[in-house]
Amino acid sequence: MTLEERIKEVKHRVEAACQRSKRAPDNVNVIAVTKYVSTQMTAQVLKQGLEHVGENRWQNAEEKWNALGQQGIWHFIGHLQTNKVKDVVSKFEYIHSLDRLSLAKELEKAGAAHNLEIKTFVQVNISGEDTKYGLTPEQTAPFLKQIRDFSHIRVVGLMTMAPFEAEAEDTRPVFRALRELMENLNQQAVTNEPMTELSMGMSNDFEVAVEEGATWIRLGSVLVGKEEEES
Ligand SMILES: *Cc1c(COP(=O)(O)O)cnc(C)c1O
Repeated sequence: MTLEERIKEVKHRVEAACQRSKRAPDNVNVIAVTKYVSTQMTAQVLKQGLEHVGENRWQNAEEKWNALGQQGIWHFIGHLQTNKVKDVVSKFEYIHSLDRLSLAKELEKAGAAHNLEIKTFVQVNISGEDTKYGLTPEQTAPFLKQIRDFSHIRVVGLMTMAPFEAEAEDTRPVFRALRELMENLNQQAVTNEPMTELSMGMSNDFEVAVEEGATWIRLGSVLVGKEEEES
């Protein structure tokens, strides 16, 4: 399939998932995850009208950002080391992986230096797998209270990664739990403004995530493809 065909196909699948769950497709934002592809391919993605670009490491993103950073809205979706904050702040509009106080403090400092309000998602490890980053659901409310007065960070919502499942349907409880956690935290009013965003769903499971309320889906292989397939 060409990039154009993949974009169309994904759009159809998102729309169908929205129809099944009675959601408005406009509320589902697609992030094209370009970590597997070149700068050239990333340029094609932007040219096709996708405006949100996701990268998980600054080392991989740097060349692409230097070439194309002004053209899209960039999302940092991977684990963020504290010493990399200075590289990504002011380039990436959204950070999807806020998972600890030391990182929040560093983002707050960098946000102040650049006079920015950095949009973040708090990453939650719903599935409890050792290999995944993120706070436990129980740690999330205390963490949000700790950072609520950080004036250069705005927590727009929560992010999670589901375990890889052969059957996408098996990821549903993870996505549902993240949505319920956000609703619960909003009821407790642990943030200054209610959180509205759920960053969840990848190539393997995005339709289930949409059915469970995802407002940002992060799509690499199914949408952008992998470099081997392009050359
Ligand atoms: C790589 C990556 C994705 C996209 O993965 P695909 O399965 O190729 O869609 C999404 N989110 C994060 C955090 C990633 O690192």
